[in-house]
Amino acid sequence: MIQYIETFLLDVPTIRPHKLSVATMNTQTLVLVRVRCADGIQGWGEATTIGGLAYGEESPESIKANIDTHIAPLLVGMDASQPAKAMARVRKAIQGNRFAKCALETALLDAHARRLGVPLSDLLGGRVRDALPVAWTLASGDTAKDIAEAEHMLEIRRHRIFKLKIGLRSVDADVAHVLAIKRALGDRASVRVDVNQAWSEAQAVRGIAQLEAGGVDLIEQPVKAHHTAMLGRLARRFDVAIMADEALHGPVDALALARSDAADVYAVKIAQSGGLFAALE
Ligand SMILES: [Mg+2]
Repeated sequence: MIQYIETFLLDVPTIRPHKLSVATMNTQTLVLVRVRCADGIQGWGEATTIGGLAYGEESPESIKANIDTHIAPLLVGMDASQPAKAMARVRKAIQGNRFAKCALETALLDAHARRLGVPLSDLLGGRVRDALPVAWTLASGDTAKDIAEAEHMLEIRRHRIFKLKIGLRSVDADVAHVLAIKRALGDRASVRVDVNQAWSEAQAVRGIAQLEAGGVDLIEQPVKAHHTAMLGRLARRFDVAIMADEALHGPVDALALARSDAADVYAVKIAQSGGLFAALE
């Protein structure tokens, strides 16, 4: 039985300011969720937004308040060995709140996997791969610092895919910054950019043309999330891969984007999708 659900806000300082087009982050607030079950088993989940309300509709404080006040009371007393049934109840009663739902689903699945003595991946059909490359985001805003950070990551063989956060400055200043980094790293690394919706279509056409010519591999969410037709025009116009991120809130959005050929690549984020099962779907 699900006995008690607790939420914690944890402020973790960043190693450097993390500059996005929508916010500059000096700390990252994690929302941690602990589900305690009557059999003594505990499960943990996490709902961490980037940039809070500057990025999406949920803030760490709203996630905590909504779980504590509205969602946890729905779950206390339910059978802890039926996470799917518990989450169906949450989905029926609660609109939106994808990050909060993801943290709860993760905590319930974590507890159930511990109960069964299996890795959580076994509850989702088992692992598909044993390793995968992970991108490192360069977002100091300072070209020389970003190059030094990338060189360090290459030297210690930790990352060779670098994502640059742009969109805060003019298109020309951003393009100069990105291409200086790409020239410095050359073929040793893949360089990608995340514009976080900052560009108009005209700015995107000018910026993407230069980034594509300079060897950048991927352009993430260049224009506003709701401008899916605009995103589709950019995806058709350019060879470089165009990624949907903020436009994507789970399987329903993904289907709509795919049906209108609006993007080449989809950022499947577990929390932004509303949980592990929604992300898989
Ligand atoms: Mg993004």
